Amino acid sequence: MTRPIPETNLLLDRETRAQLWTRLIETIENYTQSIPGERVTPELAPQRIRTLLAACDFEQPMEALEAVDFVAKGLAQYQTHTPHPRYYGLFNPAPTTMGIAADALVAAFNPQMAAWSHSPLAVEIEQHLIRCFGAWFGYDPKHTDGTFASGGAEANHTALLAALTDAFPDYPVRGVRALAEQPVFYVSSESHHSFLKAARISGIGLDAVRQIEVDDRLRMVPAALQAAIARDRAAGFGPFLVVATAGTTNAGVIDPLAELAEIAARERLWCHVDAAWGGAAVLVPELRPLLDGIASADSITFDAHKWLSVPMGAGVFLTRHTEILHRTFRTQTAYMPREAAGLDVIDPHLHSLQWSRRFTGLKVFLSLLVAGRSGYEQAIRRHTALGDLLRDELRANGWTIENETPLPVVCFSDPGGADPHAIVMRIVSSGEAWISTTQVKGRTVLRACITNYRTGPEDIQALLESLNQARESERASREMQQKAVTF
Ligand SMILES: *Cc1c(COP(=O)(O)O)cnc(C)c1O
Repeated sequence: MTRPIPETNLLLDRETRAQLWTRLIETIENYTQSIPGERVTPELAPQRIRTLLAACDFEQPMEALEAVDFVAKGLAQYQTHTPHPRYYGLFNPAPTTMGIAADALVAAFNPQMAAWSHSPLAVEIEQHLIRCFGAWFGYDPKHTDGTFASGGAEANHTALLAALTDAFPDYPVRGVRALAEQPVFYVSSESHHSFLKAARISGIGLDAVRQIEVDDRLRMVPAALQAAIARDRAAGFGPFLVVATAGTTNAGVIDPLAELAEIAARERLWCHVDAAWGGAAVLVPELRPLLDGIASADSITFDAHKWLSVPMGAGVFLTRHTEILHRTFRTQTAYMPREAAGLDVIDPHLHSLQWSRRFTGLKVFLSLLVAGRSGYEQAIRRHTALGDLLRDELRANGWTIENETPLPVVCFSDPGGADPHAIVMRIVSSGEAWISTTQVKGRTVLRACITNYRTGPEDIQALLESLNQARESERASREMQQKAVTF
């Protein structure tokens, strides 16, 4: 008796594939071309979206083209369009064209990034990039290790685990319970909140995070750090890590990196620089001095999906300690491939929080190959120049700038007291742009960041018009309300 072996429909036939690829390319190109003329923001209609999806019960297979059209139409309608030149957001850039192509190639070749022997070229491309980034930041490429990560949050988590492993050799095996002292580490009150999450899930707990005060320019105060370390040591805590930020998420502020690294070195603490966004400034000679001192950091977080404009997610963790990732993550298995055991290579799963992993590096590699370092230098210079333009125009139109940074993130307010939330609601719901509010020194302010290489002076002008108009409407509606109260 012959055993019946089922056929599958997952590959699709050749003709359907040909149509699908054509449609896919058309869809991507149409989106790329049409996006500047579209609304930036969607209608926020959860019920309508759920109704749309309720029809997808997977019982009847759909035609491939129909399925792709369905999703593309839905994404166009229901997305805050981060690739839009008037998206002034949280460092979600317009993706590079080479990055989009790379992600499609990666999906097709689907290299397995856990074991070197499965993906020799892919793993070596990532290692090559890591040495190259290390050199950008002033590390010796021969003594640079690192790993690609899903994003800055995972890279920061990696930093925390590496620093813990370095300071407390018992931690990886015996865990936090085995430690004589409660570990503590230092960030500024402006640092990224991924460190809070990392503290929770590493087992040291939120109480281990010491948020150090900032000065009036929002930079960590070195003397306050020094005092906190002394206080903690005296009280029997175990300091192990200082985190400096090079480009805060909120306001683009760069901590005094050299001074903080010096304190960390003197106190024998790991020094990590979170340069997730601002790190790309090293590519521009006139901005590079802003990051002086970063080469002394024991490790660095750098997010390629921010200022290098590749599709999400592409974080990078870099370190000048070539053994530390191995000590932090190595795990013995019987089932992993052994073909490369005799070679001088690294199996990525031994150096990373992740195991099976997407080939994240290709979108960075192809983008850099085609734009060249000088292409990126120009893109970053462009963002910075547009940020300066935005600051100047805001001042000229009677707005107050609330943060001080050469990076293109601008926090601002209306000295007349127009409500920032109301202004954001007006602009975001109009679809003209996406901006947001945040807090600077305890006060709510407006925030606009140049994140997009397609943004131009005409977009800055349009944003100014939207802002001025929203401010007028706010003032008018406030006067109406006041009159209503008076009468
Ligand atoms: C964005 C950001 C992060 C988090 O990175 P993700 O890629 O969102 O995980 C961490 N630190 C800073 C300074 C950031 O700007």
